[in-house]
Amino acid sequence: MRIRKFLLTENEIPDKWYNIMADMPNKPLPPLNPATKEPIGPDALAPLFPMALIMQEVSTEKWIEIPDEVREIYTLWRPTPLYRAHGLEKALGTPARIYYKYEGVSPSGSHKPNTAVPQAYYNAKEGVKKIATETGAGQWGSALSFACSHFNMECEVYMVRVSYDGKPYRKVMMNTWGANVYASPSNRTAAGRKILAEHPDSPGSLGIAISEAVEVAASDPNAKYALGSVLNHVLLHQTIIGQEALKQMEKAGEMPDIVIAPFGGGSNFAGLSFPFLRLNFEEGKKIRCIASEPASCPKLTRGVFRYDFGDTIGMTPLLPMYTLGHNFIPAPIHAGGLRYHGAGVIVSQLLKDKLIEAVSHTNPEVFKAGIIFARAEGIIPAPEATHGIATVIREAQKCKEEGVSKTILFNLCGHGHFDMKAYQDYFEGKIKEHELTDAEIRESLKELTTPEIA
Ligand SMILES: *Cc1c(COP(=O)(O)O)cnc(C)c1O
Repeated sequence: MRIRKFLLTENEIPDKWYNIMADMPNKPLPPLNPATKEPIGPDALAPLFPMALIMQEVSTEKWIEIPDEVREIYTLWRPTPLYRAHGLEKALGTPARIYYKYEGVSPSGSHKPNTAVPQAYYNAKEGVKKIATETGAGQWGSALSFACSHFNMECEVYMVRVSYDGKPYRKVMMNTWGANVYASPSNRTAAGRKILAEHPDSPGSLGIAISEAVEVAASDPNAKYALGSVLNHVLLHQTIIGQEALKQMEKAGEMPDIVIAPFGGGSNFAGLSFPFLRLNFEEGKKIRCIASEPASCPKLTRGVFRYDFGDTIGMTPLLPMYTLGHNFIPAPIHAGGLRYHGAGVIVSQLLKDKLIEAVSHTNPEVFKAGIIFARAEGIIPAPEATHGIATVIREAQKCKEEGVSKTILFNLCGHGHFDMKAYQDYFEGKIKEHELTDAEIRESLKELTTPEIA
């Protein structure tokens, strides 16, 4: 019998996170104060984040200890399985050997609890009573609700309107773990009221929801803010994925030639790929790491590398990143988790330095890929994850055309059980190709006054 699953035991859960900052040839440029354009220090972030996370945000230590309490909660779903995709290989008729790491086994159904748990832990340890956050597809809000329930903390979630309406059970899931959930833009914040005054029918965006959650956290001394992607400490926590996958690939007797993951702000991509990039840095390996983004929100493949705000209103520091402009409102595509206007600063610098690659896929293409996968492997992928699968299929077909057998590893970062509406829309022919024009991108970048970074 052929082996399908490569498993680890609980005591093989890594006890450190890998910090790629230590190995990067060019470190990311510092965040800037928007008023003075001077680099900000850790203190500037103190109203929003606990000090332990701020220190991780700026750390250049290569290995950072995972607290025992966090590892113990990780055992609820970790280590996660690594699968050999025998079914997909057969369906594609490819000589490529395809593996995937499955993060959908977590309580909330994606990789997000890998960082939600340590974020809640460090907040609780510093006496924080409430965490405010935003959520796009609902994955991050669910993960943080689950994590806060473990530490008896209040959780307030601003959920992008289009997802709030489209995914009612995500909201109920968060309520079950004890969180309060509001559709964003809301009337509860000045940021939300400003948007609603201009666009009463706004479908919302991650950038707007971030503005709301940041405002709530900044105006309450007992509250802090948490972000589910983009920031360095979030990417750091997710490296647990790639470290496990590396051990599992060793058990399978293989090393990937190509590592692929979908890309929203960069956390699941970083989580899987950074421990493999470490081998490129340390041992001169040439593992290709490819980020897959939607053609309708293409910051990596069509954005500019500039200082920009992380939110829509402009409350965050200026960050050096690939961006479509903080006012960019993507088409309401079904991969809610990939609708963010920018990319994390570490991933942006790696792309600038050509140490990673990026590709994009249209909406119909990713649903086609997701359905091929579901029929071949059984698991129904989250719409976000189907972007990575579309890249896998592209690379596997290249292997077939060229008659070479490469080893491909990808991140199946979540299941799609709460996204059946999206699949239904696809089956009913409602999912259309969305062509974003250069003029639309120029328009969205118009208000960005910072120069391109050389
Ligand atoms: C949040 C999310 C993403 C996108 O965020 P990243 O930080 O880029 O990983 C992708 N897939 C799923 C399932 C998500 O929940």
